[in-house]
Amino acid sequence: MEKILNFINGELLPPSSKQFIDNFEPATGRVYSQIPDSDSADIESAVTAAKKAFESWSITPAKKRSDIILKLSNLILENLETLAEAEARDNGKPVWLAKEVDIPRAAANFHFFATGILHFASEAHPMEDTAINYTLRSPIGVVGCISPWNLPLYLFTWKIAPALAAGNCVVAKPSEVTPMTAFLLSKLCNEAGLPPGVLNIVHGLGPKVGDAISRHPSIKAISFTGGTATGAAIAKIAAPMFKKLSLELGGKNPVLVFDDCDFEKAIATTVNSSFRNQGQICLCGSRIFVQEGVYEKFKSRFVEEVSKLKVSHPYDAEAKLGALVSQPHFEKVKSYIELAKDEGGTVLTGGKEVKLEGDYKNGWYLEPTVIEGLAFDCRTNQEEIFGPVVTITPFKDEEHALKMANSTEYGLASVIWTSDLKRAHRVGQNIEAGIVWVNCWMLRDLRTPFGGVKNSGVGREGGFEALKFFTEPKNVCIKL
Ligand code: NAD
Repeated sequence: MEKILNFINGELLPPSSKQFIDNFEPATGRVYSQIPDSDSADIESAVTAAKKAFESWSITPAKKRSDIILKLSNLILENLETLAEAEARDNGKPVWLAKEVDIPRAAANFHFFATGILHFASEAHPMEDTAINYTLRSPIGVVGCISPWNLPLYLFTWKIAPALAAGNCVVAKPSEVTPMTAFLLSKLCNEAGLPPGVLNIVHGLGPKVGDAISRHPSIKAISFTGGTATGAAIAKIAAPMFKKLSLELGGKNPVLVFDDCDFEKAIATTVNSSFRNQGQICLCGSRIFVQEGVYEKFKSRFVEEVSKLKVSHPYDAEAKLGALVSQPHFEKVKSYIELAKDEGGTVLTGGKEVKLEGDYKNGWYLEPTVIEGLAFDCRTNQEEIFGPVVTITPFKDEEHALKMANSTEYGLASVIWTSDLKRAHRVGQNIEAGIVWVNCWMLRDLRTPFGGVKNSGVGREGGFEALKFFTEPKNVCIKL
């Protein structure tokens, strides 16, 4: 059985404990590889390597860093098929989705920040004829990057790329649920000529490896994407140590469909925004609010389209949804369907497990599920489910829609469907979310600030925001 290894100081190494953990294939429910059960000793080795590498990487000219990172981006594209198949096998998502979205985006992340660093400039503040201030931006040192399982290589590289481009050395931890593409990336790092120790990847459990990253005094900044409770646990440790923190956390995103929307586009896109990646994208809209005038029509067409979505194994080119990522997550999502029924909800479509044949009979497949008839403030409508389950609720007017949309502790993304430009601006202004899409969903420009408000996070990723996060500003004031 394949053993995944840590990547420390340019070498592929077993964990110091010599212990491994089973890694499951969601499509079959079987163990197919093993990952290192690393601990603080491995983090210590990674930090030592990163500190040493920082001495030269931090003063390597930006153009040279950029060239190496661009090479890594190209290598990802050259290995697109292998990486996409590995991602689908590890995560349960359809291979076509990994090929179209996850892996190209991982390459794009490196490309974007490798070129972005060449355009990164800092401010000057002249004081008329008295003095001039200018801002120096230096890499921080050793930084930690911790990522989740839903878009494994995509989100892992979204953090690592700006950190490396800005001249930092990284100790990174992918999710233990989906470690495979990070392991494959470590092999490509050597091929790209990334110097040893610049990027170190330590696999293992969050409470051991992630915790050791949060606690290590030499790790000066942490970029984390994952659940809100985990983000709070990291902040509790890291904040008193005055580490810089970027926390991208959970969501419960609203989709607001107004009477005057472009109906066909709203239907087609809402099917995607609900069930892409089995509903396991932090940006998926899980609460659909529809204005009364179009509610019945929207509901019946939406349910009709959702019930046509094929649930199948990741290697079926016709599959619109694959398997959920793990058995515990599968059980959690199913428990929310039961909760919704207990809370008085009606399942309009879905709600049941899907049993495939043969090799796939023990995989974790669930029907795309639409639930109606729930109060906006019930648990089903307030807590993050992160699976193929959405609720649909009518609203009267803008005020009513905003009251329900803004009622959760979260504030990551939102979607507004309307052809009234003034309304789009008004609702966009008043909705509590870090990201607002009007008449579209997941249209991403990597230059834009990305992140959430309320319990969806602190800080922003993307563009120069990320490069600023991974650098330390220093003001130099020169008297004229
Ligand atoms: P998670 O919080 O369980 O795990 C995320 C990462 O943190 C993993 O690598 C995990 O091993 C690690 N971790 C766990 N416990 C830790 C600890 N005590 N200290 C340090 N690290 C620890 O999240 P998940 O289940 O992997 O991912 C799903 C969650 O991620 C959802 O809540 C989803 O909304 C969120 N998410 C947010 C965004 C965003 O951009 N805001 C994007 C994707 C996913």
